Amino acid sequence: MKRTLIEVFLALALVGAGVFGWLNWQQNQKSSSQLKVLQTAADEAAKSLQASGESVKAAEEKAVALQQQLTPMEAQLQELAAVKAGLTSGATLADLQAAYKTKKKLSDEQQVGLAAVLLLTKGSNDPATLEAFRATLKTSDLGNRKNTICAAQMALIAGGEKVDLLPECKAPPAAAEGKESKAEPAEKGGADAKAESTDKAGKADKSDKKAGLQSKTKWGYDGLMGPERWGTEFPTCAKGKSQAPLDIQGPFVKARTSVSADYKEGPLKIINNGHTIQVNVNPGSKLRVDSVPHELLQFHFHRPSEEKINRVPMAMVIHFVHKNAAGKLAVLGVLLKEGNENPAIKTLWDNLPTEQDAESSPEGIKFNPASLLPREFEFYSYEGSLTTPPCTESVSFFILRTPVNVSSAQVTAFPFKNNARPVQPRNGREIVMN
Ligand SMILES: [Zn+2]
Repeated sequence: MKRTLIEVFLALALVGAGVFGWLNWQQNQKSSSQLKVLQTAADEAAKSLQASGESVKAAEEKAVALQQQLTPMEAQLQELAAVKAGLTSGATLADLQAAYKTKKKLSDEQQVGLAAVLLLTKGSNDPATLEAFRATLKTSDLGNRKNTICAAQMALIAGGEKVDLLPECKAPPAAAEGKESKAEPAEKGGADAKAESTDKAGKADKSDKKAGLQSKTKWGYDGLMGPERWGTEFPTCAKGKSQAPLDIQGPFVKARTSVSADYKEGPLKIINNGHTIQVNVNPGSKLRVDSVPHELLQFHFHRPSEEKINRVPMAMVIHFVHKNAAGKLAVLGVLLKEGNENPAIKTLWDNLPTEQDAESSPEGIKFNPASLLPREFEFYSYEGSLTTPPCTESVSFFILRTPVNVSSAQVTAFPFKNNARPVQPRNGREIVMN
């Protein structure tokens, strides 16, 4: 009996120990799984902390970038406010209106100026402003007036009028990167007008020459003859995959090419070919590209610059057109930015031909094209095309990164208001920078 009791007691103790052990084990399991959960949560918290740290950093950078954009915008607004205040308190508008009162019909420039002053002084909702802009639409022919017309249309739209915006005035397609910019973007400021006899002179053979001559009557920079129509007559202009000019934007490839100019003084031979002012050059001036000499044939001007840097054109550009012994063309571009008067350009403008299409050689006037070059020769480079019909490809461009000055009076004195082809799709082309 006693022995049985002991056995029962032992059995109970055993069961008790088992239960205790099981409970204990279960507790351990529970703690470790809790620990796991906590660890995972901690990991996640750490991760999200890191991620939010990154996004805070990104947001900060964005804020800084926005601030940088905002500062010049604020400055512009202040300038605009100052102009507005000046025009409102001064007698400008009244003076203008008094001066124009006797005129039957204002010139396009006068009409646009009046509308602009009205816009600044009275705002876009004032009936007089709207009337002035409506008048610009009447007086302006689409020819050289795309900018004016676009501005007038925008002003009328801002004033709440229903206007069928011309395709040319619509926002430009995302510049250069792969999109064909068919319509001339309003931002461009209207570009058109140069023809390249330059390019013509650069042509290699007779048939090219013929095409160049033919092109002269068949294309222009505006309306029905504008760049978006060149492809009808000159298919490469529309179908070419490496057309120029380009909007020059990174990423850039490091240059391995070296370029230097060795230009000589010679008699001035200047021509207005109906598309641009061109200076023809006697043999002997050379551009060396990796020591391969390219003979300078001619140089000519575009207003505004055909090339853009980060979507921004300069006041003008000079294209120096060269050809090597193999017939390959190379164009050196010198950007002109508004500043001091340029003495070399003064010489050219002082000798502008009075007649179109006739080369003029004013007696005793010598000119050295080197006088138009900046001292620095760092460049952007890409493979492009003639920027005028027939838009022939395989032309190397070297656009100097340092601009030279031209005064605003000199820009205005250039006889073509707009002779720049719009920027063309980059189509994956490399732009080299040295
Ligand atoms: Zn050109």
